Amino acid sequence: MDHFQLKNGILHAEDVPLPSIAQDVGTPVYVYSRATLERHAKVFRDALSGLKDPHIAFAVKSNPNLAVLKVLARMGYGADVVSGGELTRALRAGMKPEDIVFSGVGKTHAELLQGLEAGIGQFNIESEEEGYELAAISRRQGNTAACALRVNPDVDARTHEKISTGKRENKFGVPLDQAKEIYARLAGEVGIEMRGVAVHIGSQLGDLEPLETAFGKVGELIAELRAAGCKVTHADLGGGLGVPYKAGERLPSPAQYGAMVARVTKGWDVRLVFEPGRVIAGNAGVLLTRVVRVKRGITHPFVVVDAAMNDLARPAMYGAWHDFEAVEPGSQRMTAHIVGPICETGDTFATDRNCDALKAGDLAVFRTAGAYGATMASSYNSRGFVAEVLVDGDRHAVVADRIPAAEIMDAERVPEWLA
Ligand SMILES: *Cc1c(COP(=O)(O)O)cnc(C)c1O
Repeated sequence: MDHFQLKNGILHAEDVPLPSIAQDVGTPVYVYSRATLERHAKVFRDALSGLKDPHIAFAVKSNPNLAVLKVLARMGYGADVVSGGELTRALRAGMKPEDIVFSGVGKTHAELLQGLEAGIGQFNIESEEEGYELAAISRRQGNTAACALRVNPDVDARTHEKISTGKRENKFGVPLDQAKEIYARLAGEVGIEMRGVAVHIGSQLGDLEPLETAFGKVGELIAELRAAGCKVTHADLGGGLGVPYKAGERLPSPAQYGAMVARVTKGWDVRLVFEPGRVIAGNAGVLLTRVVRVKRGITHPFVVVDAAMNDLARPAMYGAWHDFEAVEPGSQRMTAHIVGPICETGDTFATDRNCDALKAGDLAVFRTAGAYGATMASSYNSRGFVAEVLVDGDRHAVVADRIPAAEIMDAERVPEWLA
């Protein structure tokens, strides 16, 4: 359920008609709904209500906007961060340091230090080498960092290969068959406290079975670790739950996910940690765009919109589908290719798409753009960075300014010896 609905024939975000946002802020612009974010956060939390005191850390990489993080912080969410920049954002949004988990395969010395100094709740260590490095930095401070060891369970998440992270050949985590020895060695290090195991097998999962298989392996590992005398008080089950990108698409619900987790983790006697991203933010945002012109094609026309692959990369990057709808649909339909203005054929949002009939000047939206949308934007083709707006009932606010190309250019220099 989301709060982007037609009212009197005009698509609204909650109670705000999208044409008024286009008029205020221009296009393209991401529009997020606070009520939808809160609803998703509540549904996910409720789905885990059968578990004892779960900790939910929103995956900041899916939507790092400060206002979005603030909404989730107020819902009691912590943050899963994967860089120093994301850590800074989570803290600035008011997330408590102890509610922050730091994931990522390439945390630098500076980032480990930043996490230690901030006093974050948990480091998800992705290699034995990282564990020793963190321990050394932490010891020097007289600190003890709480850590989970990320394991690679060698499970095929059956999602797009670029967002699959739990196969043995992927760069993430330590191989399951070496995890016990690595955990035990790291547990002997002063400066870190090994307290658990972490797993995350990929994103946009349409099937619970790979998750269940991975969690089952984590459960076996926890038992083996305990049998070997290691302490395990936490298990971080990552994120990955998929969302429907097409109207009518069926995916496992948070409730089904929660029930599966409760069943599989029964008797683990740990505090469970979750890192949902897409399932919270995905359907809480749309990318609002204006049709530049409709160009005659060989078979079908090209609807050229003012949004492009630099604003929303998922179609170009993963061949992803986003529903595309007119903001003021009439009764007519058309079949068209939906493209942006960028000089690459990859700048195609949809081919042979049956959609509302559109003409130059009309507004339209790409749905399900609240996760992995604005955050993946670039300034390719010297286009600026897209603006972001948050709606709350009948009010809206710009929560990220559009950054014009000229401002980006201000950071560039021509050396004197070229003048
Ligand atoms: C990307 C990521 C997530 C979030 O994944 P979603 O599919 O958006 O839920 C969680 N944990 C880690 C370690 C990640 O890399």
